[in-house]
Amino acid sequence: MQYKKLAQLYEDLSSTTKRLEKIEILSKFLSYLSKEDRDVMYLLEGMIYPEYDDRKIGISNQLAIKAISKATGIEPKQVTKEWKSIGDLGEVSKKLMQNKKQSTLHSHVLTTEKVLENLRKLPGLEGKGTVDKKIGLITELLTSASSIEAQYLVRTLIGDLRIGVQESTIREAMSSAFFDRNGKSSEIIQKAIDKANDLAIVFDIAKKGKLKELEKVSLEIGKPIKAMLAQKATSFKEGFEKVGKPCAVEYKYDGFRMIIHKRGKEVFLFTRMLENVTKQFPEVVEYILEYVKGNSFILDSEAVGFNKKTKEYTDFQAISQRIRRKYDISKLQKELPIEVNVFDVLYYNGKSTLDEPFEKRTKLLRKILKDHPYKIIASKMIITDDEKEADKFYKKALDDNQEGVMMKSLSADYRPGRRVGNMVKMKPEERDLDLVITGAEYGTGKRSGWLSSFILSCGGEKKGEYLEIGKVGTGIAEKDNEITFESLTELLTPLITKEKGKNAEIKPKIVVSVTYQEIQRSPNYNSGWALRFPRFTALRPDKPLKEIADLKEVSEAFNNQKRNWRFG
Ligand code: ATP
Repeated sequence: MQYKKLAQLYEDLSSTTKRLEKIEILSKFLSYLSKEDRDVMYLLEGMIYPEYDDRKIGISNQLAIKAISKATGIEPKQVTKEWKSIGDLGEVSKKLMQNKKQSTLHSHVLTTEKVLENLRKLPGLEGKGTVDKKIGLITELLTSASSIEAQYLVRTLIGDLRIGVQESTIREAMSSAFFDRNGKSSEIIQKAIDKANDLAIVFDIAKKGKLKELEKVSLEIGKPIKAMLAQKATSFKEGFEKVGKPCAVEYKYDGFRMIIHKRGKEVFLFTRMLENVTKQFPEVVEYILEYVKGNSFILDSEAVGFNKKTKEYTDFQAISQRIRRKYDISKLQKELPIEVNVFDVLYYNGKSTLDEPFEKRTKLLRKILKDHPYKIIASKMIITDDEKEADKFYKKALDDNQEGVMMKSLSADYRPGRRVGNMVKMKPEERDLDLVITGAEYGTGKRSGWLSSFILSCGGEKKGEYLEIGKVGTGIAEKDNEITFESLTELLTPLITKEKGKNAEIKPKIVVSVTYQEIQRSPNYNSGWALRFPRFTALRPDKPLKEIADLKEVSEAFNNQKRNWRFG
């Protein structure tokens, strides 16, 4: 397919903010998209493979600038200058290509196959000469691109497509293109997306127009799926209202999500970000092979750290380095041991169990897993319809250094990637939010050379919109905290998009948890809110950007704090 057509689609989609219009535009496009062009579905979301695939494009702004410079013959310095004034590298390349194209007519027609072919070579490049090879592959595309094509190519390269298409829009567009859009087909498409986790596969089947075939899409061992997420409840009464009575009440462990796949002797471990972390946790592979019955299965769990001497549970931050660290694994394994707390079964011996009620899944889990404390256990759980009993269990969880409890509907199915109300979390009223860093200021004196004060933002109403809510400079460099000025500066520098004096604008990517004393209404920040005395508590590499607190969550937190003042 000509890349021109895709670029035009991007243009059309970004020309409207109305969801229904986007669905219509996309639906038309999809009905013409041929089977051979199914991988265009990845490009639609700015990717080259399905989301779970580790092979990402990963081109920095600096590298993109070099490629733009090479393709246009304009000095990198000049490109950078344009970028600082326009603020969007996509726009910059559009402008510079426009100027260039007036003098030289481009000869090649750019196709989506060629774009995918070159972009897919990028992640595999290693060793000497990598940078030049990357620039070469990108320049080849840019020189045959029109100015609009260049704009979207560059945005794709740097991971900032800005067309405002969510998965739900794609789902509705498929439903409309292939099945006369209705609730039933939407639901079946969504379930197929949840299980396949791959839009090209779902598109391929949907295009045939047979819902029955879509219903047959199943989970696959070794292919990560998104974890089901929880809503919040502020009281047991509210919790029971949401999930029904009786319900399961489980410890809410303070660790990180681990989804475990097994087939024969093969084990795969994935995080909530769909990253494969099998190599980092060899002991978990052992536990799975030894202590869980079954030829093939997928389990959902939380890995929790504990102190190797006192055996007390530790908090998430204490073990977070185990997720990332790729060396000294056996040393780390001894220093920072973990216990796997399993709470669900999503697939068992060749069949998906997603559509079974939770009660049945948890029974199966307890049948196939033999508890080995400090290695692997089924999560602590009671089934109750009584608020007092639930509260007693909740206090026990807190005494055990855990975060609180989860309340789960006994009859609910498992919905990958959804935050539906059949699982709610109950935690003590604490003042903390997950936010993203969007700006920073260089320090002075002792802190000169380091970024030392950080602007935090929450999610706005539109996808990709981030609104400032506070500034933080404390909580850093304290005992047992891996957040230091050095580490943050190192992490954030490649993400700087603009600098003015001491201030830097930062591409929203780094998610952090912060505590604060109070939320206030404020005209000083564009969110309309301000945090009083915010402090960093943790980096959240396990949390995707789309799950940071949004305006709704901030205003809920504000209302909760008011309610608590009133009632003591
Ligand atoms: P928080 O910041 O409160 O941990 P979150 O936004 O990271 O929440 P939520 O989906 O809101 O994630 O809370 C549920 C998380 O709690 C799950 O992602 C999982 O990692 C963890 N968890 C701990 N214990 C359990 C359990 N028994 N059942 C389900 N999830 C659990």
